[in-house]
Amino acid sequence: MSRFWTKKITELDPYVPGEQPQDKQYIKLNTNESPYSPSPKALTAMSEAVSESLRLYPDPNCMTLKNALAKQYHFDAKQVFVGNGSDEVLALAFMGYFAGGKPLAFADITYSFYKVYANLYDIEPALIPLTDSFDIDPNDYQNLDVSGVVVTNPNAPTGKALPLSDIEKVLQANPDVVVLVDEAYVDFGAESATNLVNQYPNLLVVQTFSKSRALAGIRVGYAFGHPDLIEGLERLKNSFNSYPIDRIALAGATAAVEDQDYLAEICSKTIATREWASTELTKLGFNILKSATNFVFVTHPEKDAEAIYLKLKEEGILVRYFGKKPRIGKYLRITIGTDAEMTALVDALKVL
Ligand SMILES: *Cc1c(COP(=O)(O)O)cnc(C)c1O
Repeated sequence: MSRFWTKKITELDPYVPGEQPQDKQYIKLNTNESPYSPSPKALTAMSEAVSESLRLYPDPNCMTLKNALAKQYHFDAKQVFVGNGSDEVLALAFMGYFAGGKPLAFADITYSFYKVYANLYDIEPALIPLTDSFDIDPNDYQNLDVSGVVVTNPNAPTGKALPLSDIEKVLQANPDVVVLVDEAYVDFGAESATNLVNQYPNLLVVQTFSKSRALAGIRVGYAFGHPDLIEGLERLKNSFNSYPIDRIALAGATAAVEDQDYLAEICSKTIATREWASTELTKLGFNILKSATNFVFVTHPEKDAEAIYLKLKEEGILVRYFGKKPRIGKYLRITIGTDAEMTALVDALKVL
């Protein structure tokens, strides 16, 4: 608290990221980072970017990266927006497309940053409960009176994916507002709504380099949408920070997009490990939601989630426990690490 704080600062409710403790080396299965290193081509490109040219500002339009994304995903560069992490893309979209009007629809259980941005921009959340099986039901997204809709696919922290036909039902029911589909985890096994962008001028698909491309450290995210939607985001971005993507990040992200083989390789390793770990956890009595992501959302019918979380932490393994929140207080979210890390997890759970 400070007497200099404005009412705005006082009323903020900042996002709390998963813990990044510095006291010892943990097996980190709590923030959905990749256990693999980024593409070697991205690493080379980033080393090369560390040069005299760092004295110059980067390209404010990120054209090399936009062109690479446009080519890879079959868009025009005018349909591509780039931001400092997809969190920044979300922040700009909330400010530009959802603020100042009606409430914003999103699920009661989803990425917790949406509530933080809603609070920041004075947007009232219109929470739509997931079904009892933790699914998004498109029938609950009809006849809404809202400023926009956010759908996370696959959803976090549940890990469950929606078929594209369900996303399309949400789009068709809400043609007059922006429908933002957050696809942070789409590469791990869901159908991408990028295929619908040319059909629906109200669709904004947001993805990130932080999860499947193992580049959380460079902070780059992107969006695909109608050129007019993208231009709106550019106007906002250029009214706030013209250079959110530095030269090193730009070089690394561009090379990473061009290395689809590496993306496919590390995603399939993660998927194989996820399926193996799910089987092992099931044998230990856990119930696991069917995951299309690089994490599993699990609960044990007899064991207390907080107790498991604390015991694992003692053993040097971090998983995400969301506190005694309604609906998910009995659950843990466990990021899929390497085979060796998941073996260590399973072994630790066996003696719990
Ligand atoms: C991790 C995550 C993000 C943020 O990713 P960054 O690009 O690292 O900012 C956005 N949405 C969801 C659902 C996520 O899990």
